[in-house]
Amino acid sequence: MSTSPAPGFGRAKKALGQHFLHESAYIDRIIDAVAPRPDDRVVEIGPGQGALTLPLLRRHGALTVIEFDRDLIAPLTHAASTVGALEIIHRDVLEVDFTALAGDGPRLRLVGNLPYNISSPILFHALEHAGAITDMHFMLQKEVVERMAAPPGSKTYGRLSVMLQASCIVVPLFTVPPGAFRPPPKVDSAVVRLAPKPPGETGIDDPARFAAVVRAAFGQRRKTLRNALSGLCDEATISAAGIDPQSRAEQLPVQDFIRLANTPSAA
Ligand code: SAM
Repeated sequence: MSTSPAPGFGRAKKALGQHFLHESAYIDRIIDAVAPRPDDRVVEIGPGQGALTLPLLRRHGALTVIEFDRDLIAPLTHAASTVGALEIIHRDVLEVDFTALAGDGPRLRLVGNLPYNISSPILFHALEHAGAITDMHFMLQKEVVERMAAPPGSKTYGRLSVMLQASCIVVPLFTVPPGAFRPPPKVDSAVVRLAPKPPGETGIDDPARFAAVVRAAFGQRRKTLRNALSGLCDEATISAAGIDPQSRAEQLPVQDFIRLANTPSAA
């Protein structure tokens, strides 16, 4: 599916999750939420036709963007030429090493109206570089933002909730209706702020083991923890962590997952 292009740009590509923001009220709200300070290093994921890029550049003077669609590179370069210093990285964002991008400079402030088809992989990729990131302001499907912020015991509490809440402060900001985009997506959207906790302050001893425990626990969410975690944590380990082995993942607070993953296991 495609829609009429903005002048100088091609048509929207569905396969790249292209839904371009056009309502200035929402664009302003996102940029006000980011509120870049003079020395910030701001990096936008998926600038598209520049709906956020150009106002951010106008306000901040310099910006790095990561865009996969080669057809957008030349028109973006042209549109930004009289506005500010735009660095364009023409790559798949999942291949961008944010830690290397930050280098010895300030940590990154990520911004993006994300391609919804790969929003979870982008979130997990960013988490792998949490130490290089100050915060992230992302537009996502509203349902994904609800899952990210869900408390234990709720229907939408799952792997995404635990992984994100363990390593970030998650603040849902506001919702955005389909009509604010061209073409309109089929779902409501929402903007969320994520502020990674410093890696030393999450309390997680071994991030890979923590991720494995959370994945296994929710991989079979109807099973008791004792069954879902077999092979990873035996029953004695679950009990030693102060958790009832008969409980289910969806009832377990984030801190319990951390304690469980930190508890040595014979399994
Ligand atoms: N920021 C623009 C806006 O708000 O109008 C465009 C947002 S659009 C929802 C998502 C953007 O991400 C598109 O420009 C698309 O080409 C780009 N994109 C899709 N997959 C990508 C990937 N793997 N890496 C980098 N950019 C990607």
